[in-house]
Amino acid sequence: MNNIDSSPSNFIRDIIISDNATGKHGGRVHTRFPPEPNGYLHVGHAKSITLNFGLAEEFGGKCNLRFDDTNPAKEETEYVQSIIEDVKWLGGDFEDRLFYASDYFQQLHVWAVELIKKGKAYVCDLSGDEVRETRGTLTEPGQNSPYRDRSVEENLDLFVRMKNGEFPDGARTLRAKIDMASPNLNMRDPVMYRILHAEHHRTANHWCIYPMYDWAHGQCDYIEGITHSICTLEFESHRPLYDWFLEQLGVSSGPQQIEFDRLNLTYTVMSKRKLLQLVQQGLVEGWDDPRMPTISGMRRRGYAPGGLRNFARSLGVSKTNGITEFEKLEYYIREDLNRTAQRVMAVLRPLKLVLTNYPEGQVEFVEAVNNPEDASAGTRSVPFSRELWIEQEDFRETPPKGYYRLYPGNEVRLRYGYIIKCHDVVKDPSTGEITEVHCTYDPQTRSGQQTRKVKSTIHWVSAAKAIPVEVRLYEKLFTVENPNDVPEDGDFTMYLNPRSLEVLQAKAEPSLAQAQPGDRYQFERLAYFCADKSSTAERLVFNRTVELRDTWAKLQKQT
Ligand code: ATP
Ligand code: MG
Repeated sequence: MNNIDSSPSNFIRDIIISDNATGKHGGRVHTRFPPEPNGYLHVGHAKSITLNFGLAEEFGGKCNLRFDDTNPAKEETEYVQSIIEDVKWLGGDFEDRLFYASDYFQQLHVWAVELIKKGKAYVCDLSGDEVRETRGTLTEPGQNSPYRDRSVEENLDLFVRMKNGEFPDGARTLRAKIDMASPNLNMRDPVMYRILHAEHHRTANHWCIYPMYDWAHGQCDYIEGITHSICTLEFESHRPLYDWFLEQLGVSSGPQQIEFDRLNLTYTVMSKRKLLQLVQQGLVEGWDDPRMPTISGMRRRGYAPGGLRNFARSLGVSKTNGITEFEKLEYYIREDLNRTAQRVMAVLRPLKLVLTNYPEGQVEFVEAVNNPEDASAGTRSVPFSRELWIEQEDFRETPPKGYYRLYPGNEVRLRYGYIIKCHDVVKDPSTGEITEVHCTYDPQTRSGQQTRKVKSTIHWVSAAKAIPVEVRLYEKLFTVENPNDVPEDGDFTMYLNPRSLEVLQAKAEPSLAQAQPGDRYQFERLAYFCADKSSTAERLVFNRTVELRDTWAKLQKQT
């Protein structure tokens, strides 16, 4: 993955190293990322993608993208397209290995018939409710289905008829014959196939029986030659079943399932069901709303793939689920953008500043550094003139204690420009609001010349040459650390932040007119911004990606 290896030392890597040492898979490493196409990918998936593709790359192996499309009801091709785009954008290189569980429906069916013939699977006529009711509990064993001892012939006949569409949805299932008294509920004759007369996004109406996740997943891994099948912790208790199916098929040294902790982030919901609810209820602009924790939302907001990968790698993997601070994510995004983003000047809340001793109509150009972290990024010329826009908060008529920016009688430096001194303000007589700040500039102090120092430097744009830009300031989408923690009669949407978006009409230096959707910048002294997908030369729109202030580093220092 673009020169970046997978997570810091972790137990999954240790397993691979030891497998390679014993020659378990002949030294091969083959992983897969297996999303269900029932929503857009989110930052939790970024952890899984980075891990799976990263480990494959580190050990000279391969990683597949495989859609777990076993549930026709909830899956859509829109999701498939978005997932492919997001995986590629993150740097996951699956080459030509784009697969679908549905590619293997035929083989899975053949194997199911094999299990029936071995007396390891049976057709059960219990309804879904009845299967649940007879499953037992953690402390009580389940009850055998009255259909458990059907003959192989009867099972084969009924399974064919299930497949041929003779029975309505839910009328029968194919179940594995394992042990209704197993302490592991997943081993109590789990359902392998259900009847579902639904159109599938790839197999259309060819099938009306669909394999369950547990039956499909391990077998798909086996077909693809996966060595390490890495998934999240909730599948830990499914592992005996994963292994049982492979055993029945006579696979001795097949794929190994390994579980790791899910990523949870403060101020964020990650479940696709909840994200879908936000989209469907119009509470956000769509799956790629820049406030969404989706990869497409983060991309639109301006997060770069390198920053997201660095974050994902920093998490490592463990065997217990925890919750990660949102600020940690922002730290890695900021660190990456600091190295890569072009600097520009823009004023979000403009206040007019007039240099009363600067010639009217004159425009000169000052040289500005494009990226202090990257000398090869060069410099650019920024127009300077008598009337400028500065940030409202960079001026105070009566400065509070410790305020070193502009106020009457005080001097500041204009970034890349001159030292100026405030001598007057103009107010709107009806409101008392300050409409103009009047200053003089000192022509001897142009930036780059040997000159005296002042305490503060502020940014600006030339009023004559500035271009209008719309900026969208995003805050966290939720007001509480854990929006999943809701009172019984509540819903997580009660914690939506009503102030998560503020739109401003700002002024920017003219170089920003070139910005293409997706271009990332640092607006000096303010924040990182990214040109929105809707941005055009006629109407420039920028999303605030992340602020410059590093709250996470500060938090780390305190602890
Ligand atoms: P959700 O519960 O959010 O709907 P899911 O687990 O059903 O997610 P899948 O599409 O099945 O989503 O996930 C694909 C892969 O990504 C799986 O291997 C899953 O374990 C992993 N994954 C999903 N969510 C996270 C997460 N928060 N952190 C790490 N890995 C995740
Ligand atoms: Mg899933």
